[in-house]
Amino acid sequence: MKLITLGTGSPLPDPNRAGPANLVRTPSGDFLFDCGRGVLMRCAAAGTGPLTLHTVLLTHLHSDHITDFNDVVTMRWAMSPTDQPLRVVGPVGTGRMVERTLTMLDDDIGYRLAHHDDLNWRPTCDVAEVSEGVVFDDGTVRIMAEPTDHAPVHPTVGYRVEAEGRAVVIAGDTVPCAGLDRLAAGADVYVQTVIRKSLVEAIPSPRLQDIIGYHSSVEDAAGTAARAGVSTLVLTHLVPAPWPGTEDEWADEARAHFRGGVVVARDLDELEV
Ligand SMILES: [Zn+2]
Ligand SMILES: [Zn+2]
Repeated sequence: MKLITLGTGSPLPDPNRAGPANLVRTPSGDFLFDCGRGVLMRCAAAGTGPLTLHTVLLTHLHSDHITDFNDVVTMRWAMSPTDQPLRVVGPVGTGRMVERTLTMLDDDIGYRLAHHDDLNWRPTCDVAEVSEGVVFDDGTVRIMAEPTDHAPVHPTVGYRVEAEGRAVVIAGDTVPCAGLDRLAAGADVYVQTVIRKSLVEAIPSPRLQDIIGYHSSVEDAAGTAARAGVSTLVLTHLVPAPWPGTEDEWADEARAHFRGGVVVARDLDELEV
């Protein structure tokens, strides 16, 4: 298995970091976790695209994690020679979000149906709303979900992908919680969205202060990684984005609480799981 950190940014626009998204490449295909800003550009760089994605899995419905979902839906439909519904897995509410996205796209769908004679079906999604347990299992790859804690955003889920005796966890936005501990237990790679609390606290913006309470800090992520006994902690969705050359400070902050490997992710990093 391989993890590709497609987008390591946050809601804040960044010239070097796309929005939150991760790709897990498995023997059964490419699974996309979240659809942040620029996700299809980063997929293209990773050698995959809307037609080759096996399933899109969403951790939650915050805009930074789904802003380019509409692009995946449209390109899956408009590029495909045959009707290929997009498989989507996400927390309760995902079906409603998908329906609203399709409604938003309705004018464009009409233009393309009228223009292309060989395109005579509308885009469709097969949606599975999940909260916990096994959400995919084909005998080769197994994916499990657990509820996470990103209150007041609710519901939210994290995922664990298992294949070839290995496991990678895509936690999404969450503070430490029991579901996250179950998900991460004994995993090889644990990917956590993080903020650097000391830096966020120093920014005099009430709206930024609000994010402290519902994200894992670097220290929190390291604590979860240590409790779970994972091999490698991947820090992503970095807020505020590290000033170039300060990435080691993030890693050192994690290493103070966790003895395993620490990766401060950049877009398109590839890790063997
Ligand atoms: Zn969020
Ligand atoms: Zn987020």
